[in-house]
Amino acid sequence: MSYTSPEFDPPQQRRFRRAPLAVGLAALVPGALLGWVVYEGVGRSGGSSGGAGQAGAATPKSAGAVPGASPSPSAGRPLQGKVVVIDPGHNPGNFQHTSEINQQVDIGTNWKECDTTGTSTNAGYTEARFTLDVADRLRTLLEKQGATVKMTHDGDRPAWGPCVTKRAEIGNDAHADAAISIHADGAPEGDRGFHVILPASVHAGAADTRPIVASSRTLGEHIESDFAKVTGSAPSNYVGNGTGLDVRQDLGGLNLSTVPKVFIECGNMRDSKDAALLTSGAWRQKAAQGMSEGIVSFLRG
Ligand code: ZN
Repeated sequence: MSYTSPEFDPPQQRRFRRAPLAVGLAALVPGALLGWVVYEGVGRSGGSSGGAGQAGAATPKSAGAVPGASPSPSAGRPLQGKVVVIDPGHNPGNFQHTSEINQQVDIGTNWKECDTTGTSTNAGYTEARFTLDVADRLRTLLEKQGATVKMTHDGDRPAWGPCVTKRAEIGNDAHADAAISIHADGAPEGDRGFHVILPASVHAGAADTRPIVASSRTLGEHIESDFAKVTGSAPSNYVGNGTGLDVRQDLGGLNLSTVPKVFIECGNMRDSKDAALLTSGAWRQKAAQGMSEGIVSFLRG
């Protein structure tokens, strides 16, 4: 499923420095650059009768090629070659497929339902619709940065799932450089804010998160920081002691991951103030932007 809200705000283009390119070229053509600097400095301040001639062989035309050099193909696309897997939590069809999603699956530490329905606002806007919308926005932003993006589902499969085991497997099979599972919470009124869930160190059955605990924490910390900055939302007031971070060992999507992965609970759908944000297309765009910036900073190292 893919739809555009009338409140959709086009994402802002990030700009990236070309300093490394300029420095590299300067090393290759120091004489030409020096000539250009002298020409520019003297020519602009001293007029045409100034010291342009002192720049020797460096003519304005040839030296001018340095600052105007074409950007490398990857300029402005810092995630070229990177793979990001986005997992929109739940599925709008899960409500009609309870027997299928209630099948038990092995998540290493224990057995759990294949998938769950997720929550909704009191007015009936479902978490599953929310996650698909934010995932779609996030995909657009990441692809503009050059990333290859894979979704665990996009409203295009039989209307339930996939199982949490499959959601993890998709990220693993894609050899994702980063994976994120998008959710919104269903907690009592008054519980507010977002939090990012990190994998605990788990080694049980098919689950072995030990190789991804540290990298997932780094990914989560970047996302936590940028999500707070871009949305202006406060970290959860009911989970994580104000850090915006939580660690869990009971989520199959994290336990079975072999790639850096986090969950994000963007807010509490059952709180009226949070629900007002979660149902706003403009806010969802900010939420996607915050996640995107966190992923970009994680992947750029
Ligand atoms: Zn959820």
